[in-house]
Order: sequence, then C-alpha cells, then structure tokens
Amino acid sequence: MKARNLGPRNLQAANTLALPCVAEHFYRLEQAEAAADTLRAIRERHPQHPLHILAGGSNVILPEHLPLVVQPAMTGIHYLGEQQGCHHYRVLAGTVWDALVRHTVDQGHGGLENLALIPGHCGAAPIQNIGAYGVELAEFVHAIEGVELTELQPFRHRREDARFAYRDSRYKQEAGRWLITALELALPARWRPRIDYPGLQQALAGQQPEPQRILQAVVAERKRKLPEPAQSPNAGSFFKNPVVDEYSMRLLLAEHPGLPHWPTESGHKLSAAWLIEQAGWKGRSLGPAGVSDQHALVLVNAGGARAEDILRLARAIQQDVETRFGVPLEIEPRCLA
Ligand SMILES: Cc1cc2nc3c(=O)[nH]c(=O)nc-3n(C[C@H](O)[C@H](O)[C@H](O)COP(=O)(O)OP(=O)(O)OC[C@H]3O[C@@H](n4cnc5c(N)ncnc54)[C@H](O)[C@@H]3O)c2cc1C
Repeated sequence: MKARNLGPRNLQAANTLALPCVAEHFYRLEQAEAAADTLRAIRERHPQHPLHILAGGSNVILPEHLPLVVQPAMTGIHYLGEQQGCHHYRVLAGTVWDALVRHTVDQGHGGLENLALIPGHCGAAPIQNIGAYGVELAEFVHAIEGVELTELQPFRHRREDARFAYRDSRYKQEAGRWLITALELALPARWRPRIDYPGLQQALAGQQPEPQRILQAVVAERKRKLPEPAQSPNAGSFFKNPVVDEYSMRLLLAEHPGLPHWPTESGHKLSAAWLIEQAGWKGRSLGPAGVSDQHALVLVNAGGARAEDILRLARAIQQDVETRFGVPLEIEPRCLA
C-alpha cells in the first residue's frame, strides 16, 4: 500500500505561526508518479473527510483540529538542459524552495536569486505566486504538474493556464481542487540583474551584480528586516499590499502625501506596512497575538496564541485601516481555521 497513515500528528512545530493543531489522519506523498493512485486510496479510506494539503506551513493559519492532512513530500531537482534560450529545471513539490534557489545559482544559472530565503516548499510556491524584491515566480514557470482532486487525474498546466497575478493564482482561487507534485522552471540563459528595489541597490552599491552577490544581498536584507519564525513565530507578510485606482490614489495622496506607492499594471500598489504603522499598530498586541515591532506587516504569536487570537488582531487592524484610510486589507496566508 502506497498510502501510510501517520496520524494523529501534532502540527504545532510544522507551522511557522506555531499555532496548536492536530491532524487526525496524516499522509506523506513520496512519489510524484504514484500521487493520483495514492490519493485515490486515501479518499477511499476517508470518504467523509475534507482533504487539506500542508507543505512547509509558512503561509497557513491552522485550526486546532484537522481531520485529514496530506503532505507532498517528494524531493529532487533535475536539470533538463537548455531549450529555446532557457535553462529548464524540473523540481519536485517537497523540495525546499531556498535549496532550489541556491542550487540553480551555484550552477551559474541566475534568475531566482531575488527570491532567496523565502520559506516553504517548491510545490507551494505557485499557490500565491511567491515574490520578493521586484521578482515573481510566475515569470519562470514553464509548466506545473499534479493531480486534479475532483477526478483524481494527473494534470500538466502551462504558465498561461495558471492565471498568475500578484500573490494569486488559479491554485489559490480554486483551493482544494489541485495538488501540485512538480514544477518545470525556465531560467533565461541570457541573465540580467533585477536590482531596482531600493534596499537592494544600496546593498550592492559599487559591486558587480552577479547572481551569487545578489543572493547574498537579498539574504542579508531579509535577515535584517524580517523577524525569524524560530524566535518570533509568524507567517511573513500577513496582508497583501492593496491596489487602488488612479482616482483613489489622488484622493489618498491629497490627505497623506507620504504614502508610499508604486504603479502596477492593475493600478497603484500601496504599502500595507505604512498604513498599519500610521494606524499605530506596529509593536502593539491584542492578547497573545501581536504586530512585530520590527515590521508592521508581520503578525506574531507572542506565546500561546490560537488561530482565533491571530484573526481577532487581523480583523481589528483591517477595521482600523479601513476607517482611517478607506482602504481594505486582504489577508495573505491561507486560513484553514
Ligand atoms: C518569515 C517569512 C517570510 C516570507 N516571505 C515571503 C516573501 O518574501 N514572498 C512571498 O511570496 N511569501 C513569503 N512568505 C510566505 C510563504 O513562505 C510562501 O507563501 C510559501 O510559498 C509557502 O510555502 P509552504 O511550503 O510553507 O506552504 P504552506 O504554508 O504549507 O501552504 C500554503 C498554501 O499552499 C497550499 N499548498 C502547499 N503545497 C501545495 C501543493 N503541493 N499543492 C497544492 N497546494 C499546496 C496549502 O494547502 C496552503 O493553502 C514568507 C513566510 C514567512 C514565514
């Protein structure tokens, strides 16, 4: 039998917010090729339970109890060669994302360096189209493979099928329908540095911007700016940066000339961290949940918090920011609670 039930399993150490959670039934998927059959066997055994997928646990808000959890645990990075001006890699879902970034950069294949040190597994990276320092995963995706969970059939999507957007994809929109087992990435053979992001430019001042140097600068910058989940349990940015239209942008700037904003294809992106800090939430707590004093966009479990404590704080911030600025904030991590 390919599916071995490892539950019940305590998931408190398996989510970076350190929320208490027990999975009644817990399965690890070890083989990409056998994933559809294994999932069919799991479904037959637990027809009454909704199935939740957990990878590195760095972007989830977990309830205290989950009936059935599956972890894609297959690992491996395979270089497929150069095709049409790109280095192609196939990487299995359970591989640690940062290990892939370092491996490709070590091979002399740049592209992913701005995305160094983002926690989590490769299979989770397309869910919210991970991004950092002016770069998003979407631009490197050639194909995504996995299992469609309604029919339990394997699928292979091209980038266009994935409907990537800012911290979004069809896999996030249609959560529960897709389990990703592997990604095929295409890294441009003619690499060019992407160092427009102000903090990165300063860190690299006077240096030749090679992929390895950029990676090191990104790692240093992230370590300086973001609280480490091991010391201060968190899920990274808790809210997406809101995007507003031209008219709203003008009204906001008339009242708040210091509001940081960037033009994007869909409108003006605002700094959620600035809005939260201006509303006075940076460093503040509500019971055992708090806002990091290091970064206003990061909510932390100050000790003993449960999902409802984190969500209560999040709602208080959302209400306050909306009242003050008229801008709704959207929660970024996936809430399973
Ligand atoms: C300190 C810190 C910094 C962060 N910085 C960034 C950042 O700079 N940029 C950024 O974009 N994100 C960032 N994040 C968020 C997080 O690292 C990413 O979203 C990451 O891709 C989540 O990976 P994971 O393996 O932990 O996924 P999990 O948290 O386990 O899962 C996230 C979601 O994806 C689903 N999922 C996971 N794997 C699969 C799969 N194989 N198939 C189908 N569904 C799946 C889960 O069901 C869940 O809904 C940060 C988080 C932390 C804690």
